[in-house]
Amino acid sequence: MSRLAGKKAVVIGSGTGIGRAVVRLFAEEGADVMAADFDKAAELASLKAAVEETGRTCLTAEVDVRQPATIAAAIAAAHEAFGRIDVLVNNAGISPPKSEFHEQDPEVWTRTLDINLLGVAHAMQRVMPIMLSQGSGSIINTASQLAHKPAPRGGIYSASKAAVVALSVSVAQEVAASGVRVNVVCPGPIDTPMWRAGNPEWAAWKIGTLPIKRIGTPEEAAYAYVYLASDESTFMIGQSVSPNGGDVMW
Ligand code: NAD
Repeated sequence: MSRLAGKKAVVIGSGTGIGRAVVRLFAEEGADVMAADFDKAAELASLKAAVEETGRTCLTAEVDVRQPATIAAAIAAAHEAFGRIDVLVNNAGISPPKSEFHEQDPEVWTRTLDINLLGVAHAMQRVMPIMLSQGSGSIINTASQLAHKPAPRGGIYSASKAAVVALSVSVAQEVAASGVRVNVVCPGPIDTPMWRAGNPEWAAWKIGTLPIKRIGTPEEAAYAYVYLASDESTFMIGQSVSPNGGDVMW
């Protein structure tokens, strides 16, 4: 259990769901972690307590990725405390209720892109000088299976996640020779608060289309982040890794 021994990580969007599992597994694998989220003080406090039982350090930070100053403050605090940042996970995301595109309030588009895309961009920009000066670092951005296979009634979400993939690949190419890696995790259906908040009929239909015929657990997604954070993946640059139950819907 030491695939991340000595590493220092920041996980944004880690109060619940996949991000929370990422923090737990990172700590189990030997990393010290800053867990950051928006409006999730109680969840972060319980996560910190659970991680610190394993003997690892868990800092917490209040970050609203729509406010770049809060991202900057958290990254500066983690750098100050840890002396370096080896891994940044950009996992904060929202999934607006499914609806016909032409009936959607454009305010939903703005909010979705602000959080799902621009939040990732701001955090990458903030951590990059630190990682470039170290000559190493792994940035892992959460997109979605829907980035590659958009479905009806979720266009702006799919677009935001496709943009995360495109941005990640472009930045990965820019910094690869400097020792900094950027990759993407594109989960399929994972049993989290976000998934449970969705339409139950659609969820049941979706799971029925999966070859594996069941939903994934947050841990099954989180192990992809462990791999991309570790030195096992040093030749992975600008890749999408998809824990998705074999999704072959179309
Ligand atoms: P979740 O709702 O449990 O986690 C999302 C986290 O992002 C929450 O802790 C939330 O507080 C945080 N967040 C939301 N807005 C924020 C903001 N403005 N600033 C900071 N943090 C904010 O859901 P999840 O399923 O664990 O989602 C994690 C990521 O995985 C998301 O990016 C989501 O789009 C993606 N994803 C999830 C699934 C799935 O089936 N669950 C599939 C594909 C992709």
